[in-house]
Amino acid sequence: MASQVTNAGEKLVTVIPGDGVGPECVRAAQRLIEAAGARLVWEERAAGASVFKQGIASGVPPETIESIRRTRCVLKGPLETPVGYGEKSANVTLRKLFETYGNIRPVRELPGVITPYSGRGIDLVVVRENVEDLYAGIEHMQTPGVAQCLKLISRKGCEKIVRLAFELAIAEGRKRVHCATKSNIMKLTEGLLKRTFEEIALQYPGIEAQHIIIDNCAHQLVKKPEQFDVIVTTNMNGDIISDLTSALVGGLGFAPSANLGNDVAIFEAVHGSAPKYAGKNVINPTAVILSAVLMLRHLGEFEAASKIENAILVTLEEGKARTGDVVGYDKGVSTTAFTEAILANLGRSSQRWRVRDYRPIKLPQFDPAPDTVKVSSRRTVGADVFVESSLSAVELGKSLEEIAAGSPLRLKMISNRGCKVYPPTGAITDCVDHWRCRFVVREGTPEMIDAHLLDLLHRISPRHRWMQIEKLYEFDGAAGYTKAQGED
Ligand code: NAP
Repeated sequence: MASQVTNAGEKLVTVIPGDGVGPECVRAAQRLIEAAGARLVWEERAAGASVFKQGIASGVPPETIESIRRTRCVLKGPLETPVGYGEKSANVTLRKLFETYGNIRPVRELPGVITPYSGRGIDLVVVRENVEDLYAGIEHMQTPGVAQCLKLISRKGCEKIVRLAFELAIAEGRKRVHCATKSNIMKLTEGLLKRTFEEIALQYPGIEAQHIIIDNCAHQLVKKPEQFDVIVTTNMNGDIISDLTSALVGGLGFAPSANLGNDVAIFEAVHGSAPKYAGKNVINPTAVILSAVLMLRHLGEFEAASKIENAILVTLEEGKARTGDVVGYDKGVSTTAFTEAILANLGRSSQRWRVRDYRPIKLPQFDPAPDTVKVSSRRTVGADVFVESSLSAVELGKSLEEIAAGSPLRLKMISNRGCKVYPPTGAITDCVDHWRCRFVVREGTPEMIDAHLLDLLHRISPRHRWMQIEKLYEFDGAAGYTKAQGED
């Protein structure tokens, strides 16, 4: 991804100061960048709370979108997600608008920031898929008492994030990539990331590739975090474990991030607007400054980036200026005093605490056309019909069997909250009025066609309320659906 350069050779960056403590941190980062000699031109734009208040529901006004389209690079303060006005998070909107599919969250042990892990050399990067998964935000109330959130994971989305993780490992001279999923439970969605990882890992023989179940990953991160180098994972897993990893090295005040896409990159701290510290000049600006360091590397300004990172390491090592989150707010220096201490250390580097050698990340290139995964055969073998009913499992089962009599489809089973309840299994299931009723083609019917399903729905409608249907496919002979707990 090429950055936008002015005729005078300066690189254009859209800067969004953000809400709460955002402006204090972003100004600190801008001062350091300028002092480190990087030649950037800032285009300041708004997003977040002030924009929501103007009645712009996305929290991102057109002039901000226009600027980002042009500059393709953003340094951003945190944006508040207001409660009561505005619906969606402006952060998520920005990530999605510009398809910044990879969220890179590095953490490393820092001098003078004492944690239970000090001395163990934690230095790892979480690579979080940034646009898909439950964060696609497709939610419905299926009944007044049952909510649903669709977890959409695509083959293309998995390939993009996995390749990005391996390319990042190469660029940073890292040796190992773990893929953390919950594929043991969500075999199709989380499993798609695992399968894609295992396939693509073969193309990177120089990097050790290992799958790990996400809950064990969380356990291992607390027990022996130094074993990790790069962790690639789905959106929600990554959101959670990256907050965990930031706590391992001293907390949110030290956790930077980059949202990378093929067209646009957005750099921001992991933390939010921390409203209780807003305007008090006490917040730790390191996370935003380190995000700016990631941005400088992205723009090819490697020298300025290392200069700032080295100055942070020297400042923390000296320990003369430390913010309240490290030493207590009664003893900490102000945000500006801490920034000035870093400024004074520009040009110095620590003997003990080194900065890695970085190379530009080779961003994987993908065809922008909609992705189609081809199969040689597909067969529709039935459908799950979701029904709202206050009947018991047996009453509903008998009713649906009666309704389907003479149809090419037969009731195979009913599940409630994922567990098979009809035909009865003897399991003690605490049922709600939301039933997944699985119909499959009867013997002798090669495949379900829409007319079979429409006929079935016409039969069901007068007697039961149905909310949703999911067709059951076989792709290349393999079931494209999972079984309910207890289903054979
Ligand atoms: P938060 O703003 O991250 O703050 C939570 C706590 O983390 C703070 O109270 C503070 O802990 C600590 N903290 C955060 N930043 C720090 C820093 N720079 N230095 C030292 N300590 C820091 O999370 P929140 O209170 O849940 O969210 C506030 C708002 O931010 C919400 O509207 C949320 O939606 C938004 N948000 C935005 C982003 C983003 O823009 N990317 C990310 C997360 C949240 P102590 O109280 O222990 O001192």
